Amino acid sequence: MKKIVILGGGESGVGAALLAKAKGFEVFLSDKGTLSDKYKETLSQNQISFEEGEHTEAKILDADEVIKSPGIPDKVELIKKLHSLRIPVISEIEFASRYTKAKIVAITGSNGKTTTTLMTYHILKNAGLNVGLAGNVGESFAKQVIEDNFDYFVLELSSFQLDNCFKFKADVAIILNITPDHLDRYDYVFQNYIESKFRILQNMTSADDFIYYQESEALAGELLKRTDLTVRRLPVSIAPQPPEGELKTDSKTPPLGVGGLLQNDILHTQYQQNSFDFPVSALPVKGSHNAINAMCAILVCQSLGLKNEQITNGLKSFQSVEHRLEPCGEIKGVKYINDSKATNVDSVFYALGSYDEPIILIMGGVDKGNDYRQIEQLVEQKVKALICMGKDNSKLVDFFGKKVPMIFTVDSMQKAVQLSADLGTEGDVVLLSPACASFDLFKNYEDRGRQFKEVVAGLK
Ligand code: ADP
Repeated sequence: MKKIVILGGGESGVGAALLAKAKGFEVFLSDKGTLSDKYKETLSQNQISFEEGEHTEAKILDADEVIKSPGIPDKVELIKKLHSLRIPVISEIEFASRYTKAKIVAITGSNGKTTTTLMTYHILKNAGLNVGLAGNVGESFAKQVIEDNFDYFVLELSSFQLDNCFKFKADVAIILNITPDHLDRYDYVFQNYIESKFRILQNMTSADDFIYYQESEALAGELLKRTDLTVRRLPVSIAPQPPEGELKTDSKTPPLGVGGLLQNDILHTQYQQNSFDFPVSALPVKGSHNAINAMCAILVCQSLGLKNEQITNGLKSFQSVEHRLEPCGEIKGVKYINDSKATNVDSVFYALGSYDEPIILIMGGVDKGNDYRQIEQLVEQKVKALICMGKDNSKLVDFFGKKVPMIFTVDSMQKAVQLSADLGTEGDVVLLSPACASFDLFKNYEDRGRQFKEVVAGLK
């Protein structure tokens, strides 16, 4: 009997174990950390053997195939050993994709994955399609294909999940953008990360659709190099004059109007003969980045044959996503916005671009090697006060100290919000958009966002 070893016992690992068991494999799950009680119970109930707190090498190296959690870097000794023994190491997504007949919509990018995934899923579901949601969000893909009841899946995929995909094939793929992130996992070489994102296109053919944001420099640059790609391309642009050229006139792409454009505050998309228009002002999510996300979602829906009316209804009824430019109250004419999920500089760039009001910006936390030059100009133009909230604020203070009218350092959410309230005058926006990870002062970005909302609620 084929032996499957699963490394990592979170949502995806446990899902993979259940699927492997259901398919009749001998399964062993190993986690170096601790497993949650809920998952231990699930594994025991399904007679799946597991260990926690250690990796028993002899058992792991005996595997015919290993399914690795996206959280485990390829650099660790154990994975290197598996590679040297030529034992295949795959991701849960790769494994699960073997067992589904559903059409796959796969979404990646450095920023905007969750928003676009949820928006796409919402429109499709609202239109009555039998569609599942998986990947980085919700229940694992593997668990959901045990029954394989869905006709479609919308998958949010991180680069770590894509790294261990080989035969996985999407029917429709989106790359939203590529900006430097997670470089610690890619030997600090940006090109490695770009290539990881492009794995989403592997195995796609000229019968499949690839939707992408054309003004993302790294993405467009890589695409120019990929002359072997046959997948149908649908570029999305928000530039005032969409650049003509290689990307739009590629001989493999139907030449005219296939893709998305933003013109006069209207989103125009065209898929083959079908065009669709939607005013930006009617989108329930703010900011130019959400115009990109929405056009990508719309094109997926057009590609899957939805009628314009169904797309319109879905877009209108989509609700903004928690911790992503989430409005959470207006007090004395000052608006409070929770963008705690903004853990890199690019997302703060879009957040700042989403408001015309003077901004009191709360930034800081654990810096993942940020280059703040991308937001320097916007901060100078829009930020009236910068509140640096973290254990070590020196990098922010050094960079922005002379570029904003006021700068402060604090070490708690309570102080950050109270100070914002003291500084804020009618018409201001207080924006929590940290550009950094949260674990110096908080459990995670959700905890940071919730604390923000709680303190804001207490101001009333
Ligand atoms: P991800 O799942 O890729 O982390 P989210 O949808 O959770 O993306 O959004 C993360 C952050 O990035 C939020 O602060 C959000 O406002 C911002 N963001 C969303 N879409 C985009 C985009 N297309 N480009 C840049 N930033 C974006």
